[in-house]
Amino acid sequence: MTTPHVEIEQQRLLRTAIPGPRSDALHRRKASAVSSGVSTALPVYIERAGGGILVDVDGNQLIDFGSGIAVSTVGNAAPRVVRRVQEQVADFTHTCFMITPYEEYVEVAETLNDLTPGTHEKRSALFNSGAEAVENAVKIARSYTGRQAVIAFDHAYHGRTNLTMALTAKNMPYKHGFGPFANEIYRVPMAYPFRWPGGAENCAAEAFAMFTDLVHAQVGESNTAAVLIEPIQGEGGFIVPAPGFLKLVSDWCREHDILLIADEIQTGFCRTGNWFACEFENVVPDLVTTAKGIAGGLPLSAVTGRAEVMDAVHAGGLGGTYGGNPVACAAALGAIETMKSENLVGRAKQVEAIFLPRLQQLAAKYPQIGDVRGRGAMLAIELVEGAHDKTPNAALLGTVTAHCHSQGLVTLTAGTYGNVFRFLPPLSIGDDLINEGLDILEEAFAASC
Ligand SMILES: *Cc1c(COP(=O)(O)O)cnc(C)c1O
Repeated sequence: MTTPHVEIEQQRLLRTAIPGPRSDALHRRKASAVSSGVSTALPVYIERAGGGILVDVDGNQLIDFGSGIAVSTVGNAAPRVVRRVQEQVADFTHTCFMITPYEEYVEVAETLNDLTPGTHEKRSALFNSGAEAVENAVKIARSYTGRQAVIAFDHAYHGRTNLTMALTAKNMPYKHGFGPFANEIYRVPMAYPFRWPGGAENCAAEAFAMFTDLVHAQVGESNTAAVLIEPIQGEGGFIVPAPGFLKLVSDWCREHDILLIADEIQTGFCRTGNWFACEFENVVPDLVTTAKGIAGGLPLSAVTGRAEVMDAVHAGGLGGTYGGNPVACAAALGAIETMKSENLVGRAKQVEAIFLPRLQQLAAKYPQIGDVRGRGAMLAIELVEGAHDKTPNAALLGTVTAHCHSQGLVTLTAGTYGNVFRFLPPLSIGDDLINEGLDILEEAFAASC
């Protein structure tokens, strides 16, 4: 027995100030019940959501340019996800795959092995969160290679557990006061075209030379288990590595029997206009971590990789009580079915085609927009002081964001310097809402600059 999907009118609607009185009341309860370490970007409490709209407890309807950080890629309460989850939750909710297994887990693994880059034989293991997937990818890489060092990049974000805090670059708020961190993690520069000292055109070659020098001189290739990289950096500010950089790193890894781990947790599952962002650079990683968009909002993550690497771990070495929970697996199967049957790879490209020209127009008008970048429905603008001054402008980001939020447009920020607007709309959003959201963004710049 399933309840029918409640359609939400795809329209922005402001009935009260944002946040409204009911949200305010809930936020007061939050302050006295929830740790203040868990903060909220926009304290509007949500009741229902679908398409490109979030409905709050005051009856306001907000345009969603965030997808709960790239998670509800197929849309909130996507019909195929709802149906599969309702059926699964009524059948059984948990047995623990390590005790008495079930088909849904195997089917998700088969699907991931099929969809991730490369035609080689693969295996997958399922977990709950992105951080857990990254931790397990490192465990697997160390176990297979018998080596310990892991190379991570400037501006990287890989999670908030102890090992992934060590892999994450940014101190505040992710690491501050939380050390000591795991060791055998080494950091190298990212090929960040907009801020590369030698200029964007030299970025890939120079960053690659620094990378190989640093690993050789400070770590040693034969001590290095893996290089871990986001094919487009997420929290770091949607930094698209200079063209060719990923391929150079990938070829070098193969030459030295070092594993390449692509963290596709934010970029995966149609988000960038491909199933996975590595495909743009024809890079086939040894291991891929996925989470976020994988299951339409339910907690699920995975490591997928070369069969010989994934099978090198001793029996019982990988797992966890909830990893690959049957309800989360059912949601993933519903989400992936939606991506295929609604051609969400194509939709992400359409979203880019609407967004990008308008962001570029805005950048032509406002010298404080220093860079427009990203792929598909993963786009960003980086704010600076002016045309000839790349000093990060976090203050302007704050003003423009506050304006967008007050007008019922949910936008997210990012960046090591807190000066990047990132756009991650659900792929279920309509063209009209995208354009309306961009109108609000334009007004916000006009009011703030
Ligand atoms: C969000 C994210 C993670 C961590 O995922 P959680 O589910 O929050 O643990 C890791 N890597 C990348 C690239 C991410 O965007």
